[in-house]
Amino acid sequence: TPAHRLQSLPVQFFATLVAKANARAATGRDVINLGQGNPDLPTPTPIVDRLKTAAENPLYHKYPPFRGFPFLKEAVAKRYKEDYGVELDPEKEVAVLFGGKSGLIEISQILLNPNDVCLVPDPGYPDYWSGVALSGAEMSFMPLKKENDFLPDYSAIAPEDLERAKLMFLNYPNNPTAAIATPEFYEETVAFAKQNGIVVASDFAYGAIGYDGKRPISFMETEGAKEVGVEFYTLSKTYNMAGWRVGFAVGNPQIIELINLIQDHMYCSLFGGIQEAAAEALSGSQQSVHELVATYERRRNVLYEALEEIGWKAEKPAGSFFCWLPVPEGYTSMSFADLLLEQADVVVAPGTGFGASGEGYVRLGLLTTEDRLREVAARIGRLGLF
Ligand code: PLP
Repeated sequence: TPAHRLQSLPVQFFATLVAKANARAATGRDVINLGQGNPDLPTPTPIVDRLKTAAENPLYHKYPPFRGFPFLKEAVAKRYKEDYGVELDPEKEVAVLFGGKSGLIEISQILLNPNDVCLVPDPGYPDYWSGVALSGAEMSFMPLKKENDFLPDYSAIAPEDLERAKLMFLNYPNNPTAAIATPEFYEETVAFAKQNGIVVASDFAYGAIGYDGKRPISFMETEGAKEVGVEFYTLSKTYNMAGWRVGFAVGNPQIIELINLIQDHMYCSLFGGIQEAAAEALSGSQQSVHELVATYERRRNVLYEALEEIGWKAEKPAGSFFCWLPVPEGYTSMSFADLLLEQADVVVAPGTGFGASGEGYVRLGLLTTEDRLREVAARIGRLGLF
């Protein structure tokens, strides 16, 4: 029998979605999958080349140092300085992670006890729930509403939840709503966190992806942010390295120490060759990142133009590679996602997969070619729903 804490884990939402899509494709249909957040483009060649040569270095065939090689943490600190003007001590304020995901789970393990409350955005990335469930703490959902630009309203949090709240997740550029944060919102967040003794976990997975010339801001740019929180940064999306499993936590040194501590007991660190390639990604030319954002922006424009032609109107995403689209009248998120799979062979993520406040929306990823995105709109158009 599994331990009690495992029994509280929800079924992994994307695992279910992938299974559904695969089952449909296995019947021989031409399924277009925009449901998952898995970048379709390859890792830039210089990064792959660096791994190839690094793989031959016998130093890396031994156990890597606990907490990662200094050169990688220095590369992270330099990138934050260059991109956000944020100073980080590479040894005390940077932790190497197995993708952002490992840190997002660990933060709940190191800070939450049963009876504590974690503030979680709704809709939001489902892995926040998993970490909280494993810790035995409770969740208090913060609805992200369109009329608030998909930012949480701190004044709407129930006082009895706020009293027990120890941790809060934020995620901008946001998955799934594609909203970006403002400096004012982050200033309000620091004040709110200080006043209520809450640690802020800023998930910056889509930090590099902002459109129309707007560069998303890091929570760490906010005055006082380092006193109240950490930020999770991953190479998965910025450098198309989802399969490599590299990420970082940066910020508050006490929390970084706790993340490192739990990792000391669970892993040594990543394979040295991957650490070297990750340092190459962060320190080398960032031209590939500019090209990536331009590619997603072109795809976004193509898809929205085609959706407008079929009468499906929505605001364009400001950041991330997701589109958050309202479902037509008479459908729920789930029934509409099922309809698109069954009648258009298009996989989208139902909004309710990200929480109850996702009802009325579906999420589409800009993760295929412009032609295939036009095809998606054409197939949906043929259903005659708009
Ligand atoms: N945070 C958000 C909001 C994501 O969408 C994802 C991946 O889809 C992650 C974190 C996890 O990324 P990683 O590959 O670094 O574990």
